[in-house]
Amino acid sequence: MNRKLKSRQVVFVGGGLMAALAARQLVKDGVDVLVLERGRDHDAGPEHRLPSQRDELRWGVRNQLAQDWSIETYTLRHARTETALPVRTLEAFLPGDGVGGAGNHWNGQCFRWAEYDPQLRTRLVDRYGAAKLPREMPIQDWGVTYHELEPYHETFEKLFGVAGKAGNLRGQIQEGGNPFEAPRREEYPQPPIEITEAGVIVTEGARKLGYKPFPMAASNSPHVYVNPDGMRLGACQYCGHCERFICESNAKGSPEVLLYPVLKRSKNFEIRPYSHVLRLDYDRAAKRVTGVRYLDLETGDEIEQPADVVVLSAFTFTNTKLLLLGRIGEPYDAATRRGVVGRNFCHQTNSSINVFYKDRWINPFMASGSSQTIVDEFNGDNFDHSGLGFVGGAYIFNNTTNGRPISTRPLPPGTPQWGTKWKQASADWYTHAFSLGTIGSCYPHVENYLSLDPTYRDAYGVPLLRITFDWRDNETKMSEYVTKKAVELATATGATIVGPAVPRKAPYDARVYQTTHVVGGTPMGADPHTSVVSPHLQHWDVENLFVVGGSVYGHNAGYNPTGLMAAIGLRLGDDLSRYAKRPQRL
Ligand SMILES: Cc1cc2nc3c(=O)[nH]c(=O)nc-3n(C[C@H](O)[C@H](O)[C@H](O)COP(=O)(O)OP(=O)(O)OC[C@H]3O[C@@H](n4cnc5c(N)ncnc54)[C@H](O)[C@@H]3O)c2cc1C
Repeated sequence: MNRKLKSRQVVFVGGGLMAALAARQLVKDGVDVLVLERGRDHDAGPEHRLPSQRDELRWGVRNQLAQDWSIETYTLRHARTETALPVRTLEAFLPGDGVGGAGNHWNGQCFRWAEYDPQLRTRLVDRYGAAKLPREMPIQDWGVTYHELEPYHETFEKLFGVAGKAGNLRGQIQEGGNPFEAPRREEYPQPPIEITEAGVIVTEGARKLGYKPFPMAASNSPHVYVNPDGMRLGACQYCGHCERFICESNAKGSPEVLLYPVLKRSKNFEIRPYSHVLRLDYDRAAKRVTGVRYLDLETGDEIEQPADVVVLSAFTFTNTKLLLLGRIGEPYDAATRRGVVGRNFCHQTNSSINVFYKDRWINPFMASGSSQTIVDEFNGDNFDHSGLGFVGGAYIFNNTTNGRPISTRPLPPGTPQWGTKWKQASADWYTHAFSLGTIGSCYPHVENYLSLDPTYRDAYGVPLLRITFDWRDNETKMSEYVTKKAVELATATGATIVGPAVPRKAPYDARVYQTTHVVGGTPMGADPHTSVVSPHLQHWDVENLFVVGGSVYGHNAGYNPTGLMAAIGLRLGDDLSRYAKRPQRL
């Protein structure tokens, strides 16, 4: 049955982190807000509550907090000359599902990006000349500056009780923090979380090499913390059940703990779970979206929800897909390099090396999602790329987020995969090993993009999103370079065994988790020929349509994306509030 509902002022598609952050200001300003979320709300009462989270098999291996891929998956190919096929088992990334989105089962690693990142093209051209950027790499400025976003970073860090050590306070470099950090006005709201033994080892090795290691900024709260909205975080238990889990101690900054409970108290806010948005209603002649169509997953009804303003906040894939389905904006065409929707799709270029220490006790089971010590000397443009055949870089860190027994078990090279020797090696090394990782940038390439699949459809009959992606030269060269630096660091720490270094190499392997930091598809920018939304996230062609989240990034940096995304999301809240009062181009 089809039904048409009463019109609402602002309708968000997707009830994750971005929707909650942007809605915060709107709701305060009395604007009527409706959020449509395809998944459940496990905070809606006792009957919705989730069973124990410290169940690695259910949540960590079977990924039951992530999108259900039997309903909606994506297709993948490495080149546009290939036929894409559906990816049937989710691994490479784990988009969220349910109120709070992936913001519930994230790790909490919370970065501001480098000051130059929103003007990356200008920065690289100024430093190395235009010839350094091949025509195949459409790196672009985003039309916004770090300084415009700085106050929003500060608000987010206070809301989420972020714990860290400032590296740059108003231009003064601070001992113990990241010397490459963009200038901040204030210290972090909380001091850093505990450094693990692996962090101590990395610090020792890094200092020998002359680097300046520092603790990762964490949304995992070291102490009980009350935020400016009066919401409370518990103290981290260092149980290692952060990424892929909801924190049982309420110690991880998450929308379902800190944001939605406040929003739900307001009469002018409503969140409607089990509402899977199928498409946007678009009046092409008037160049306005008039609302959205969604499937009520409890009744099976297709519902028409009219709206004055629509905000896409449904993560990179759905944001891009809904624009492509609605034929809103020109789809990107890799053959002609024209069009915008789907362009600049980027993943993140990571690598790792297992390191083993006979006489040091790592105790990996005592960790939080951000118990890491970082070396930032080889990230982004923090170092001179003259003479190097690539741009970009990575941070190097001890990847010690947990010691969960099924999946966190580094073993020395040559250990069999099963049997007595495998058991013995597990017992010998479980508490004496960790993985040294690199989280690296991924810059856009003209052949990496998102489009609609011509063949495959989801369980509701909607075309799947097709990913055309592979590691290109720039990223593989960068990964080789930074992985060598990580090996040097591993050696400097005096490791008993340094496992094989595995830099990223083509072909892209969808069977391996690589972070859920997939960005691009609807980039922001000052030029409508190369961006989908304006620097205020307003669609260039459709004034009452906004897009927020990683899809608006023009490139991916060697930093986790959510800190910056949150600043952009909070700023959108202010912009939408202005727009609600006076609808016009911002
Ligand atoms: C395992 C994991 C670990 C992570 N760790 C980190 C980290 O340590 N640091 C970091 O910076 N980032 C991390 N991230 C990324 C971070 O979670 C995301 O950047 C952030 O949640 C994005 O916010 P969002 O609102 O755009 O998307 P989400 O929070 O995922 O919300 C999107 C919402 O849209 C809904 N939706 C999608 N399609 C539809 C539809 N058709 N109809 C209705 N609703 C829809 C989804 O169900 C979801 O609830 C991690 C992510 C994962 C999965």
